[in-house]
Amino acid sequence: MANYRDIESTLIHGGIFGDPLTGAVNVPIYQTSTYRQEGIGLNVKWEYSRTGNPTRAALEALIAELEGGTAGFAFASGMAALTAVLSLFREGDRILISSNVYGGTYRVLDKVFRQFGIQYGIADTADLSALEAAITPDVKAILVESPANPLMTVTDLAAVSALAKRRGILSIVDNTFMTPYLQQPLKLGADIVVHSATKYLGGHSDLVAGLVVVNSDALAERLAFLQNATGGVLGPFDAFLLIRGIKTLALRMDRHVENAQRAAEWLKGNPAVKLVYYPGLPDDPGYEINRRQARNGGAMISFELDEKHDFRRFFTSLKLVTLAESLGGVESLVCHPATMTHAAIPRELRVKVGITDKLIRLSVGIESIDDILADLEQAVRESEV
Ligand SMILES: *Cc1c(COP(=O)(O)O)cnc(C)c1O
Repeated sequence: MANYRDIESTLIHGGIFGDPLTGAVNVPIYQTSTYRQEGIGLNVKWEYSRTGNPTRAALEALIAELEGGTAGFAFASGMAALTAVLSLFREGDRILISSNVYGGTYRVLDKVFRQFGIQYGIADTADLSALEAAITPDVKAILVESPANPLMTVTDLAAVSALAKRRGILSIVDNTFMTPYLQQPLKLGADIVVHSATKYLGGHSDLVAGLVVVNSDALAERLAFLQNATGGVLGPFDAFLLIRGIKTLALRMDRHVENAQRAAEWLKGNPAVKLVYYPGLPDDPGYEINRRQARNGGAMISFELDEKHDFRRFFTSLKLVTLAESLGGVESLVCHPATMTHAAIPRELRVKVGITDKLIRLSVGIESIDDILADLEQAVRESEV
């Protein structure tokens, strides 16, 4: 493992660079399921591609370096990655999650893991005393996102990790919204980092993938076992695409964030906009903590239009900004959390935490900011009732 001064270089040269056999500067796509063995029990470095594949291994080494961990694991989706992590727990254990997390995280806990006797609890992880009070003896982990999906609620990752350590439980951070370029939870004390690499790490809305990074040998051994045993691994072609996407992460994120900052300020100053959630705005409740633990506020914004504007018409009036699930691609995307990303959460619970029917989530792309703002402006105008 080479050590570069800055992450911009690790993004391009980290993990395993190139191909030692040919000198190719890119890691080849090892499109194979199995490997020839010299004899029984000999050369077992590679034996079967669910267990290990050189293209996937290059990606796993890269993400481990980027997050400052010792081992990385690549999965077929963010949900497959979370499923492997949640498989660390057993009947009777309880996982605490933040009151706003990705809808699929809530769904897999509520509809899948609960069937196997693994319980969950919902806590306001931004309120440390409330969180501490929620740690009953059966709680074995705290799973947080910061900023959280979709209200961009900021959680103090160092404080939550320290609390978890003190109580002898694991802290798990879903770092999808920030990426290791903007925030490195393991360095803040977290035990496990999870990514939906489908989003910013892939960056081009052309693949579905998940990653896990840890920095303890014991956890690495258990996750390697679970990855192989449950089998939700990333294929070699998608591993190649993801390595390719990661190379331009710094450039893309800088532009995403610059555009998002402008878009958030524009929304904030627009009389038709009632609420703006973006931790890069100095008056956002999460601004100070986010600034301490992350490079900047990221590029995800949520907002609500006022009563004089029809949010449904706003969505259908957009021309450049595309109505779609997902986020983090080069193109600007907009979504309606209540019916899309967070539809799995019962309405009562959703509204209670602030995910109203009117909430609009914007993933700011890297197009010209003037084109993005012009599109938002005409859609706000068109949506007036
Ligand atoms: C999309 C997403 C997931 C799920 O990842 P997939 O790749 O869609 O399976 C998990 N967490 C967050 C924060 C996400 O945005």
